[in-house]
Amino acid sequence: MKHVAQHKDNTQSILEYGDYTFLYLSNLSLVQIEEVQFHSAVIIESKNLDYVRLLVSSIRSSQSPDIYLKPIVLLKREPVDIPVIDELADGSIRNLDELKTVAQITERISNRVHDLTFTNSISFEAEMITKLISLLYTKEQKTIDPVPYVYSNINYYYPLLSVNFNRTEEHSALSVLQIAEDEGILRSEYYDRVYLCSSCSSAHLSYREVCPKCSSSNTTPDDIIHHFPCGYVGPMKDYKNQIDDKLDCPKCNKRLRHIGVDYDKPSVIYECNHCAHKFQDYYVNAKCLSCASDKAVDQLKSIEIRSYRLTKKGELAAVKGFVTTTKDIDETVGTIKYDTFKTMLKYEIERLKQSQGESNLCAINISNSSQVYSKLGSELQKSLLKDLVSVIRSNIRSSDVIAFESSSTIVVSMNDLPQRIAKKITVEMVHILEDLIKAGFEDLDVIFETRIVQLDHSKTHEAHLKELLADLS
Ligand SMILES: [Zn+2]
Ligand SMILES: [Zn+2]
Ligand SMILES: [Zn+2]
Repeated sequence: MKHVAQHKDNTQSILEYGDYTFLYLSNLSLVQIEEVQFHSAVIIESKNLDYVRLLVSSIRSSQSPDIYLKPIVLLKREPVDIPVIDELADGSIRNLDELKTVAQITERISNRVHDLTFTNSISFEAEMITKLISLLYTKEQKTIDPVPYVYSNINYYYPLLSVNFNRTEEHSALSVLQIAEDEGILRSEYYDRVYLCSSCSSAHLSYREVCPKCSSSNTTPDDIIHHFPCGYVGPMKDYKNQIDDKLDCPKCNKRLRHIGVDYDKPSVIYECNHCAHKFQDYYVNAKCLSCASDKAVDQLKSIEIRSYRLTKKGELAAVKGFVTTTKDIDETVGTIKYDTFKTMLKYEIERLKQSQGESNLCAINISNSSQVYSKLGSELQKSLLKDLVSVIRSNIRSSDVIAFESSSTIVVSMNDLPQRIAKKITVEMVHILEDLIKAGFEDLDVIFETRIVQLDHSKTHEAHLKELLADLS
């Protein structure tokens, strides 16, 4: 079954195939990107490449998963490779009779999209990582390789990620990849090196030999000639005469005959046409074509370009939803890093071997965190976490510490307290937290789960944490 509804300018139409509708866009049709979400896939005719680039980039750089995950199929009447765009798209067809292929691509991708959990990420970096791993997951792709790309401001483009950045911000994609690697979501290996402008991080540089005194590139080279019979050494212009193109020695007046026999050219001398300085070793400067700064090459930023692979943890993060990076939660006031928490726990267990005290470990978990975070924007998420921490802080002793184990689990030390008191405090804290959420966040249902583990000095700190966090999501 095929039905074609033509738009009045003939450049845009809706094609139907089975239960699917495809938005077909051909040469320079005007389209609101939001319209994409109402169709099963987009078919774009690749005639005007600038137009295709703009369209594909707008879809993939959207903030909304309903748009950026939409299958894109290119209609290529001629078989051509379109760097970067081919990678951003999901496949291609030769003519509109191949809607069955489009339907197959659409079905495959939408099945994968159903596996994903969407949560609002807490920071820009976490949001970029979410988008990247979601796209990799739906495209069943595990590698992110840099593509040399003439439209890239840093010369290499990571299509699924770099598409989110303005030209001048494109280098920020590299820090996102670094964060994803630090989080264990990606691993990488060396690919190449680029040199970026130290002022604006552009790789579009023009390299020139310049005068070491005034940095002018307006210099003239001249061969140095060594006349063997008399030993004179000087620039070639000293040997030239007014009459013919032969060379005569200015010291002994003999005519020069054969290079290598009676004379040699051991080196080159440069003369600056701007300041008249003469020199043998020029400097190399790089002029930035983006911001026009002109600096010695040793001042450029030398940056490694790496190729990346999604780890098992990364695949799971796509399915479960990725909310924060460790960096985000480390910045929550009143908490310490989880690693530091672990170290302090280790010392507390050591201390308990000497003393007879009773100490506890407490975990407060938001069991519906995906739902909660997807209802809140990233600013609200941060303020929610801040509120949680300040309530906990005011209910524990100043010597106790708080850390985020993940974006949904807070761990708290409760040292030198009987377990029943620690339990009582925890129950009270959760009541206060529930009241606080009722008062501050409308229609937000947050489900808390708590665990308390009493420290046992015969067990390691890892064993305690394992017991504490078991079956908490
Ligand atoms: Zn000069
Ligand atoms: Zn001579
Ligand atoms: Zn620059």
